[in-house]
Amino acid sequence: KLHNTILELKGNIRVFCRVRPLLPDENCNSEGKVISYPTSMEVLGRGVDLRQSGQKHSFTFDKVFMPDASQEDVFVEISQLVQSALDGYKVCIFAYGQTGSGKTYTMMGRPGHPEEKGLIPRVLEQIFQTKQSLQPQGWKYEMFQCWKFTTKQSEIYCQQIKLLLNVWKMGLLESNMLLNMMASGNTHVSDLTVVDVCSAKEVSFLLNQAANSRSVGKTQMNEQSSRSHFVFTLRIYGVNESTEQQVQGVLNLIDLAGSERLSKSGSTGDRLKETQAINKSLSSLSDVIFSLAKKEDHVPFRNSKLTYLLQPCLGGDSKTLMFVNISPDSSSVGESLCSLRFAARVN
Ligand code: ADP
Ligand code: MG
Repeated sequence: KLHNTILELKGNIRVFCRVRPLLPDENCNSEGKVISYPTSMEVLGRGVDLRQSGQKHSFTFDKVFMPDASQEDVFVEISQLVQSALDGYKVCIFAYGQTGSGKTYTMMGRPGHPEEKGLIPRVLEQIFQTKQSLQPQGWKYEMFQCWKFTTKQSEIYCQQIKLLLNVWKMGLLESNMLLNMMASGNTHVSDLTVVDVCSAKEVSFLLNQAANSRSVGKTQMNEQSSRSHFVFTLRIYGVNESTEQQVQGVLNLIDLAGSERLSKSGSTGDRLKETQAINKSLSSLSDVIFSLAKKEDHVPFRNSKLTYLLQPCLGGDSKTLMFVNISPDSSSVGESLCSLRFAARVN
C-alpha cells in the first residue's frame, strides 16, 4: 500500500495532462506545408507552456504525457488506483477535454487496434488477473458493472442517466441498488440486461455491444458520444473466506462530454440548450472537485446529475484522477487553454 500512503500525504486528487500526437491530416497546413510539433506548446517535465497571441501561460500537473506516450505508459500510472479499488477504496478516473482531444482513445482505445487498447480494457484485465491470483489466499471477489451515459432523449434534458447494460449477477445487492435509483425518481432504468461474466474478454465484448447500441450510425455515435458523459462503473465486493475480511470498492471510469465552448459549436435552439447543460455539468464537476481539494464544508454535489451520481465516490478517502486531454494543433490553442485552466483549478 505504499502508493496509497503517498496519495494520502499529497491529498487524494491528481491531475494528469495528456497531449495527443498530431493526426496524419493535421500534419500539414492549408497550403500543404508540413508543420512541426509543437506549434504553440512546450512540454517540459510536469510543466506545459502554451503561447497565445504572444502571451505565455504556464501550468504544472502531477504528470504530463507527451504525444509519444503509449497506452501502456498511461496504464502503468493508473494501475495502483485499480489496486486501491480492489483494496476497498472508491476511485474515479475522468477524461476531460474538447472533442477530438483523445478522451475516448485514452479510456477505450482505438477501435480495431487491440495493441492500442485503452484504460478500460486494461483495467478489466488487471482486475481479473488479481482476482485469480488472490484466490489461493482465500479471497473471493464478485463484481458487477454498469455503463451509464447521459442522454438527451429524456425529460431531464441531457442529464438523465440510463443504465445500458448491467453485468454480473449480484442478487439482492444489485436489485436494491436499482430499486433505490428508481425510488429516488431521478433515474429511470431501462434496457437492462444481466449477464454472467467471467473474463475480461467477455466484459470487453459486452462493453463494445453497449457502446454500439448507443446509437445507430457511426457518425451519429461519435456525435452522441461527444455530447454525453459515459460512466463506466465497476463495483467490487471481496471477501476472504479464511479471515472473513471484507472489502467493497468502486472504480468509475468517466469519458466526459466534449468541453468545447458555445462559440465554437455554433449552437442554436435545442443544441444550444444541450451545450449549456453540458457546460453546466462540467462546471459543477469542477466546483465539486475544487471544494473537495480545498476541504470546504459544503460540497455542491446536487448541482448536476453527474456529481450527484458520483457523490458516494468523491470526497472522504476516495481517490480522484483527472486526465486533461489536449490537442496539439494550433487551431485548438484557445480550447486547450480553457482545458488547462479547468484542470489547474482542480489540481
Ligand atoms: P475525443 O474522445 O476526446 O473526442 P478521440 O479519443 O476520439 O477524441 O480522439 C480523436 C482522434 O485522435 C481519434 O481518431 C483517435 O484515434 C486519435 N487519437 C487520440 N489520442 C491519440 C493518441 N494518443 N495516439 C494516437 N491517436 C490518438
Ligand atoms: Mg470521444
